[in-house]
Formats: sequence, structure tokens, C-alpha cells
Amino acid sequence: MRFTDLGLHADIVRGIKDLGYQRPTPIQESAMPAALEGKDLLACAATGSGKTAAFVVPILQRLIAKPRAGTRALILTPTRELAAQIAESISELAVHTPLSGAAIYGGVSMGPQEHALRTGVDIIVATPGRLLDHLRFPYCNFERLEVLVLDEADRMLDMGFLPDIRRILKRLPTRRQTLFFSATMPPPIAELSREMLHAPTMIDHARRAEPPALIDQRAFAVDGTRKSELLYDLITKGEIKDAIVFTRTKARTNRLAEFLEKRGVACGRLHGNRSQRQRETALDQFKSGKTRILVATDIAARGIDVQQLGHVVNFDVPHVPEDYIHRVGRTGRAGSAGEAITFVSPEEEKDFRAIERAIDRVVERIRHLDYTRPSADATKRPPARGPQQAPQRAPARGPQSAAPRAPARKPAESPRPFFHKGVSERPTGRAVTRTHGRSGGGPRRRRSR
Ligand code: AMP
Repeated sequence: MRFTDLGLHADIVRGIKDLGYQRPTPIQESAMPAALEGKDLLACAATGSGKTAAFVVPILQRLIAKPRAGTRALILTPTRELAAQIAESISELAVHTPLSGAAIYGGVSMGPQEHALRTGVDIIVATPGRLLDHLRFPYCNFERLEVLVLDEADRMLDMGFLPDIRRILKRLPTRRQTLFFSATMPPPIAELSREMLHAPTMIDHARRAEPPALIDQRAFAVDGTRKSELLYDLITKGEIKDAIVFTRTKARTNRLAEFLEKRGVACGRLHGNRSQRQRETALDQFKSGKTRILVATDIAARGIDVQQLGHVVNFDVPHVPEDYIHRVGRTGRAGSAGEAITFVSPEEEKDFRAIERAIDRVVERIRHLDYTRPSADATKRPPARGPQQAPQRAPARGPQSAAPRAPARKPAESPRPFFHKGVSERPTGRAVTRTHGRSGGGPRRRRSR
């Protein structure tokens, strides 16, 4: 199928061409015809699949034919970054049309957003909390609404937005087209979709919980106290040129960024305690190449779109396989090759094995002897204790709590070669790293669930 087969307005096709999209992605091929017919949609789509255009293009087509009449489409999405990114996609795709969009999210002034709502821009992209703030005022009304999109519904659930969504729904016309997107379908989301959708067309492009096939996945077995050093080592040896590095908490994001900055690696940070301006600056600097490393927590990094990203580093193993898939989906987007590297400490093996089962693939552990043992510092220190025994203010945080206060230490200087011979270690070069999977023809693990 080609975009020109969809009967789209010529000005929309020009916008698509300008973006360099040659042909629809699979989700676009399935979703666009049904959405263009005005049907409700229930779509399971993997991250990076092109789902934004899958709902934006049909909205543009629907609105372009009719005279302007206030806000006619509303897209609800969980994070500010996603909202900003979807709004950007709208302005790119609609560049040759008279249609306009605006993003509404917290952390910035309400004034310009109020103006957008008062003037009735055609498409509003909003995070639920800030939209509810506006809905308290009479200028915010959606009586002309024709299309509602719920984007990343499962993430909305994770972030506790379901009650907000229900409150917003009460303020929207019931006669409307609803496009419902979710990477997974946990029971509360399935229930919400049943309430919201009428005879939806079902599209499932995400059920096979698998990162895009082109992504090379590697894992390092590493002691929990040595992760920062290992990362620094990979950066200085040129193994990692640019990467989004995912950590488990805001504090770990800060500590790692400080560790790298002290050693001259320019890096940005993205987490929930950063202001909107700080987040945008971090993203812009990373996208423009000013910084090579972006350290981020999952939620803050949700939906980041950086073209041709080389690496995703899972500095901490995510607790649930879905988060792994989402993280890894940051690289290799829309068909380009990428690489995902995961640092697996002994305490995280269990979680990583669950991920391997979910992706039906065994990711070989690379063992770099320098980093599989605790650092000399860490072995001298008393082991991590329960909060009641800990003399310091910050409570111990699980297995990683013995991690050094990174900035205080220098990276390990290893007089030994990077990898030791005679042990079953593998060099880090991609050529000799094997991952076994369906496509690779290597040994498979039986799905255990
Ligand atoms: P999304 O899943 O919507 O975040 O899109 C992921 C990436 O794919 C974005 O960089 C889009 O610009 C890109 N993209 C979307 N549709 C296409 C297409 N048909 N061809 C090539 N790239 C696309």
C-alpha cells in the first residue's frame, strides 16, 4: 500500500512526503483505512511503530474537508514529552494545510494554553492533569469535538491517570470517533476500552512482545557497584558513541550524570524533578549532538524520538519486560538498526531472565572481569544495611545501595586487557556477539508463560 492509495488530500500527502515517509508502516497500513472511514479503533502498537502518524493523518483528513469550528480533535497522552512530540508531528504533517494544533501540559504557564483553547485550535494534544485544570473554566469546552485519541493508555494506567481520564470523558460529547492506542491490554485498560469504543476495528501489532528485529541486544554481567565505571569505559573506548541511558530512579539518574560529567563526558538528564525547560534543553542538546549521553528515567523518556539513535543502555534492568521493550524501542526506530546494551548485576538476573522469556530470546552475558567484582572501595565499605541500621540519612535502596557516591571516585584504571583470555568472556565487538532468537536460529528457550 502507498499513501497515495488512501485517498488523502494532496496537501496532507505533501506533508507526508516532506517528512520522507515512503510508504505506510504496518500499523499505519492497518489503522489508517479504518480510521479514515470514521470507525473506532482499538490498536495495540509497539513503540516506534509510526503510531502517531497512524492517528494524526486520518484526523487531518477528516478536519481538512470541513470549515473551522473550534477544537474538533483531542489527543490525550501521558507525558509532557509525548504531548510536545505529537504536537510537533501535527505541525509537520499539517504544514501545507490550514489546520493547527497545540500542546497542553503541566510545568509551563497556562496563559498560552488558555489562548489556544479560547481560539479553538483544531487539534489539542494534552496530558490529563493539566487539561483538567483548564476544564474548570468556561473557555475550555469540547462541544464541537469529533475525534478523541487515547495514546499509550496502559502507561496512563501506570501513572495513575485513569480517574482523570474518566473525569475528562464526562466533559466530551458521546457522539464522536475514538481511537484507542495501548501497547498492552491489562484488564483495567480492556474495561476502559469497552466503555469508550463502539464496534471498534481491532488492530494488534504489539502482542508479540519483541523489540524490533533489527536491534542488536547485548548484556554485560556486572557488579552492581561497578556500573558507572563500566559505562564510562565503554564510552571512552568508543563502544558507545551516543546513547540514552535508562536508570531506575531520579537519584540514580543524577548520580550517574554527575559521575560522567566529572570525567568530561557531556550528558543531559531527563527525569520527573527537572523543569520543563530543563527537559527541553536536555533533549535539544542531545538531538543536536551537543551532548552524547542522555541519562533518563523510564517515565521521562517515554516517547522520546531521536532519529538514528545508536544505543540504548539499560543501566538498570527494568522490573517488567514491557519497560524493556519500550526502552529498547528508542533505538532502531522505523527500520533503522540500533543496539541495546543491558547491565545485569547478580541481583537483577531474575528480572532479566523474565525479560528473556518475554522476548523469547537468550541474550548472552558478556563478562568483563574488571567489573564483575565489587570495587576495592565497595568491599572495604560495610555492606548495605537496612534503613534502621544505616547511619546516613538516605535509606539503603536495595541491591544497588552500596553503589559508590560516584563523583568521589576515579574510574578504574585497568592495567589488564579489556577482556581476559581463557575465560568464556567475549570481546565487546558486535561481530562476535551472538544473541539467539527466532531470526538468529540459535537455541531457543521455551516460553514459560
Ligand atoms: P512513532 O511510533 O509515531 O513515535 O514514530 C516513530 C518514528 O517513525 C518517528 O520518527 C516517525 O517520524 C517515523 N515514521 C512514522 N511513520 C513513518 C513512515 N511511514 N516511514 C518512515 N518513518 C516513519
